[in-house]
Amino acid sequence: MLNWLKNRLAPAGKNPRNAPYVLSSKQHPISPRDISKAAQDVVAALNDAGYQAYVVGGCIRDLLLKTKPKDFDVATDATPEQVKDLFRRSRIVGRRFQIVHVRMGREVIEVTTFRAHHQGNDKQAQQSKQGMLLRDNVFGDISQDAARRDFTINGFYYQPQDNSIYDYANGLADLKQRTLRMIGDPEQRYREDPVRMLRAVRFAAKLGFDIEPKTLAPIHKLAKLLKDIPPARLFDEVIKLLMSGNGLATFHLMREQQLFQQLFPNTEALLIEDPQQLEFIEQALINTDQRIRSGKRVTPAFMYAALLWPVVVKHSQQFLSGGESPAYAWQHGANLAIEQQLPRIAIPRRFTNPMRDIWSLQQRLPRRAGKQAERVMGHPRFRAGYDFVLLREQAGEDLEGLGQWWTIYQEADETKRQDMCTKLHSGKKPGRRRRKRGPRRKSGNPA
Ligand code: ATP
Ligand code: MG
Repeated sequence: MLNWLKNRLAPAGKNPRNAPYVLSSKQHPISPRDISKAAQDVVAALNDAGYQAYVVGGCIRDLLLKTKPKDFDVATDATPEQVKDLFRRSRIVGRRFQIVHVRMGREVIEVTTFRAHHQGNDKQAQQSKQGMLLRDNVFGDISQDAARRDFTINGFYYQPQDNSIYDYANGLADLKQRTLRMIGDPEQRYREDPVRMLRAVRFAAKLGFDIEPKTLAPIHKLAKLLKDIPPARLFDEVIKLLMSGNGLATFHLMREQQLFQQLFPNTEALLIEDPQQLEFIEQALINTDQRIRSGKRVTPAFMYAALLWPVVVKHSQQFLSGGESPAYAWQHGANLAIEQQLPRIAIPRRFTNPMRDIWSLQQRLPRRAGKQAERVMGHPRFRAGYDFVLLREQAGEDLEGLGQWWTIYQEADETKRQDMCTKLHSGKKPGRRRRKRGPRRKSGNPA
């Protein structure tokens, strides 16, 4: 329990509208020093121009929990156009939900105009048949804005000038109880924006909070609404879900709530069939989490290559048993796996190309005879392909020591490397071994 929170609780019951619980400077641990200079400058410039402005959302939540915020967001009563006019280096982004990106030095601060509930048929507010908001650009005041945020712990407004925090949604009580609670009626809020279901599992896993029962209950039944979300938005969301350092916990929650199957239906079907594949995905996420924690680089290409690998294997094996050549079967399998995934999640080509490379290297890395090992090591994606082999082995697949062979090969000098390649031809698979050979042929040894 955070010490500062012990004696702090919002008054019992719901906050009446327009009456936030106010934490003055002395009642919380945040100091203006914790807030990025850029966000403070944006708030100050808006205030100077006569607008209200607050630092809001996840960054205040994270600071209250004494963790480092990922980014700083600002909310204001200035319209997007007014914000844009005020800052030279700014632009309005988004259609469904307009925000302004204000560039300050190297930082980009997202500035959001206070939103309000929708009434009637407004051009700025469109709803689909399922209740999804196709446009969410009806502006309002701060208390209306607070009611439009997703979870109570994401509804804090911080004023850098006097260092006070405004809590409109009883977020403090939930922070204390480590509870993730939707503001308003959960089902309606999920229908308005089904991505909130993904956000629920993401925050629960990231913060180690329990999802409050009423907030949790509708998720599995509404999970299918994710099919209406644009695939490009889902691509961004999946990165946040699985590549923020809590991927494994998030994955488990997503599967429990039937969210994973909406995003990766083909993978999910195979995970149910084959525990070995489940172990593989889990291992990929464990490794990704570890890499992130130790500050190492992670790439969406590697993660997506892992998430779709069971599907690639399945398709390729079907093509193989249908009589295709291995080269064709694996390429065809990869193409089909990607083609079937893209309507759900728009993986950009700059990632699908390296994914294909990682997969095709799984066929090339076992073929090390003659000059093949040397050649494949020069492949621009060799490292990722090799890491992928290690991952497969780590998850229990028997590749006859392939990963270790490559580990030693990379560290070896020229003589030893040649020796290793020569030795490959002796000892294994007697039936298929070629003994004395002349110039080595490309087809090599399918180790
Ligand atoms: P993160 O740590 O991922 O940045 P965050 O809570 O800051 O978490 P953002 O996506 O940066 O999340 O959004 C900032 C704030 O905007 C949130 O805290 C929340 O108040 C509000 N918000 C974002 N997305 C939604 C949504 N889909 N529905 C309602 N409110 C949202
Ligand atoms: Mg944020």
